[in-house]
Amino acid sequence: MPENGRVALITGGSRGIGKAIALELASRGLRVVVNYRSSSEAADEVVKNISDLGGEAMAGRADVSDPDQVKELFKTISKEFGPVEILVNNAGITRDGLLMRMKESDWDAVIDGNLKSAYLCSKDGVKVMAKGRWGRIVNIASVVGLIGNPGQANYCASKAGIIGLTKSIAREYAQRGITVNAVAPGFIATDMTDILPESVKDEMLKSVPAGRAGTVEDVAKAVAFLVSEDASYINGQVIAVDGGMTMV
Ligand code: NDP
Repeated sequence: MPENGRVALITGGSRGIGKAIALELASRGLRVVVNYRSSSEAADEVVKNISDLGGEAMAGRADVSDPDQVKELFKTISKEFGPVEILVNNAGITRDGLLMRMKESDWDAVIDGNLKSAYLCSKDGVKVMAKGRWGRIVNIASVVGLIGNPGQANYCASKAGIIGLTKSIAREYAQRGITVNAVAPGFIATDMTDILPESVKDEMLKSVPAGRAGTVEDVAKAVAFLVSEDASYINGQVIAVDGGMTMV
């Protein structure tokens, strides 16, 4: 496989969708950096799973919304593992609440955690990718960044922002062999959605033509395709992995 041995950084790779992406990319011969902020045991477990299957991986602690920690992370990866040629901006959080009750701190935390983090990592990432004239960035957005969702103004704004970021960087770096795309998952079963009340989950499922929640693997396969050589002419796109939820 042509992409064998390239280094892929997955932010928030310790759990949920990020973990599935880490495992999928490693199974395709990529060398994977599993970034996490606090769940070090979970990150080490993902690294161990990959090594047990004959792949190569390392864990990398950093709060990716912090510029200094992002710089340090990229330095460490470059020294210990090699240049990052594939970046998956997956780390994300929610702090839900209706607009009138949404605290400014919840707004800031979500915008920083979901959007600023992607800006910071992309900025360091493209420097390395541009040098080698090859790179892939996949940003994990969300269908609610396209259609909105009551109680998630901060989250939806961050995900809509990710889509604008994706298209702008795609235009800036297209001629340097770098593609930048977004994957917009619908309702995927992870820790993030597990905390929702059953009534909200049932309501969301009613809007999915496929009639089921997506799996983390559904998202990981789409990401694996976008970072592959086969997707080299796909750029600046938003691919919804949502069981048909947002089809027009
Ligand atoms: P989880 O809550 O299961 O996992 C989130 C991951 O992100 C964890 O590994 C966490 O690490 C990491 N993380 C969060 N903030 C930071 C940070 N500042 N720096 C480093 N790592 C961080 O989430 P999901 O797997 O469900 O979601 C993954 C992505 O997919 C998110 O961007 C989310 O918005 C998006 N998404 C999810 C959907 C769903 O239905 N689940 C639907 C649409 C989009 P740690 O544990 O160490 O904090």
